Amino acid sequence: MTLEADVIIAGGGSAGLAAALASARGGARTLLLERQTKLGGMGTNALVHTFCGLFHPDVSLPWAWLNAGIPVEIGQAMMERTGQSAPDLMGKVYVLRQHPSLYAQIADELCAAESNLTILTGSEWTDLHRDGNRWQLDIMTRGAKRQLKGKALVDTTGDATGARLLNPEWCQQTESARLYRPAYICAFHGMTGTHDDGWRLQIGAMIVRAIRDGKLPPEAMGAGFRDSPFAGETFLTVDLEAGQGEWDPFDPVKRARVEREGREVALALWSFLRAEHADFKNCPPPMLPTKAGIRETARYIGDYVITGDDLGLSRRFEDEVALAGWPMEKRENARGPKFRFFDEPKPGGIPARCLFRQDVPGLYFAGRCLSADHEALASLRVMGTCMATGEAAGKLAVDFASRC
Ligand SMILES: Cc1cc2nc3c(=O)[nH]c(=O)nc-3n(C[C@H](O)[C@H](O)[C@H](O)COP(=O)(O)OP(=O)(O)OC[C@H]3O[C@@H](n4cnc5c(N)ncnc54)[C@H](O)[C@@H]3O)c2cc1C
Repeated sequence: MTLEADVIIAGGGSAGLAAALASARGGARTLLLERQTKLGGMGTNALVHTFCGLFHPDVSLPWAWLNAGIPVEIGQAMMERTGQSAPDLMGKVYVLRQHPSLYAQIADELCAAESNLTILTGSEWTDLHRDGNRWQLDIMTRGAKRQLKGKALVDTTGDATGARLLNPEWCQQTESARLYRPAYICAFHGMTGTHDDGWRLQIGAMIVRAIRDGKLPPEAMGAGFRDSPFAGETFLTVDLEAGQGEWDPFDPVKRARVEREGREVALALWSFLRAEHADFKNCPPPMLPTKAGIRETARYIGDYVITGDDLGLSRRFEDEVALAGWPMEKRENARGPKFRFFDEPKPGGIPARCLFRQDVPGLYFAGRCLSADHEALASLRVMGTCMATGEAAGKLAVDFASRC
């Protein structure tokens, strides 16, 4: 069975959701393909719980949205549903706490309002071909093979899947030892007390002592807590070394190890803290994510590869389609981030040329797999920026499809 559309969006995370909405609203018959059952990508399935990159980087000014359009629409919907009237100021950045369940709900509602948009969840993109002037994608849904055909294709899988299927020369990958590390996030419920920086330091010191005394595994060193917008709920993030130089996010055996290790550490922390700290005493076992959070895999080489220096200098481009404002948050080990802030608190431009290759007409890419170097990715991969590049790629794809 073949499904036809003007525009196919592959991958329903922050970038794919925005691309699909932009495409459908632009009048194109749009198919959005997603392997999981929820839209939202890492923001729902991996329980990533803050929207970064939504705001202007100058925190000496009152907070302001950075990119108009779908990022604001999603950000505002999240603020309304979580009861937040403003983002949090965390050091030198504004951040919006988001709730993964509400993100899935917002995504569903926004998509349901678009009559041009068809959602295909639980479906894996497995192959890519060119059929005349159409893209043909093979997909698998519970063992059944199907084809999708479209005039334009937007790859928002985060993994540069299209390039890896059709021509690996279109994509780049950082060496294992420097790949941004994966992390495992889960949600603790029934928490009591207030959880400020002093509390986080106290918990950190307890964890260090427990590792030294053999009561917790060494991997618990990468643990950090951040409160949800809802009372009694706290998210635990455990950054994992994942074998450092051995880490390969495309190796299923290594992926399985990361999932197992994440669960083991999260549940060891739950048992330990429940016994040792009053704030955790009433916590049932934590809610686990659908999958571990993967920060970096492969990305495209487009007509322009945006660099860390471009962002550091807040460079602007004639063909820019979105703005970046989040600092380069490099996580090459599990010992916390190393930040490179922009030299001045001014946004940098993201050129349209980072979202396509002129020698491959009708193929666009956005989100975590856009064309950037390793350092620039540390800024551009955050969800607010992924929404903005996704929206831009969706618009480019509609324009292309309308000319076919
Ligand atoms: C541990 C961790 C913490 C983070 N913290 C933050 C934070 O605090 N704030 C922030 O803004 N960002 C944060 N990020 C970054 C951010 O979550 C991601 O970079 C962002 O979600 C990328 O969006 P995306 O749409 O490009 O990709 P994703 O969110 O990864 O979505 C890609 C989608 O494509 C689907 N897909 C992939 N391959 C296929 C296929 N073959 N067939 C069908 N579907 C497919 C996937 O299932 C997924 O839903 C964090 C990331 C991690 C891992």
